[in-house]
Amino acid sequence: MPFLFAPPPQAVLPVVGEKNLWFPLHRAYFVGLNYAEHNKELGNWGEPMVFLKPVDAVVPVPEGSVAEIPYPTETEDFEHEVELVVALKAGGKNLTVKEAEKAIYGFAVGCDFTRRDLHRALREKRDAWEKAKTVDQALPVTAIRKIEQTPEIENLAIWLYVGSEKRQDGTTDDMILTVPEVIASISKYWELKAGDIIFTGTPKGVGPVKKGDVLKAGVAGVGTLDMRIV
Ligand code: MN
Repeated sequence: MPFLFAPPPQAVLPVVGEKNLWFPLHRAYFVGLNYAEHNKELGNWGEPMVFLKPVDAVVPVPEGSVAEIPYPTETEDFEHEVELVVALKAGGKNLTVKEAEKAIYGFAVGCDFTRRDLHRALREKRDAWEKAKTVDQALPVTAIRKIEQTPEIENLAIWLYVGSEKRQDGTTDDMILTVPEVIASISKYWELKAGDIIFTGTPKGVGPVKKGDVLKAGVAGVGTLDMRIV
């Protein structure tokens, strides 16, 4: 098929233990407000909700490498949100929780960077969140660890350091919707596909970063994510 211009490259993530095999990305879904204490720190914004970001914002972070995240324009409060990311090998509509469990390929660690000042202002105006949430080159995700190689998603530590300061320190047990419940609830609105990734929410302790900051985040048994703000 002739194209008018070169089509964009397929966005991918690496897979732990696979040298020449890539996970091709379809969509990136996000559950907001899925940890009660984070909901409180924002000022009780309500029930867990869903938004999407384009996958061309993804920065793949293979083991041993550091993601360079450019400090974006149009914000003075750019904030980190460490999240457990679930990657799907199958999809469907209206999945049951059992079907959702079977669709999981593996897990990764990601950071849902946010222009928080805009986020608060847009919410105040009941405007769309994209200017706050969709930031070019600001969606770092580790290599995916296959589900066979990850622990049960039960009481796993989820944390983030800026320099030597521990900012976020939670457990996956604090999630309001469990991972399979998140997948099932999204599939009521969209047909999920193999290649979809879902960010499952952030624990309390989100906060600002600045140019030069070095960040380290992780989920126990899943991976660690190294980042630098440039
Ligand atoms: Mn988030």
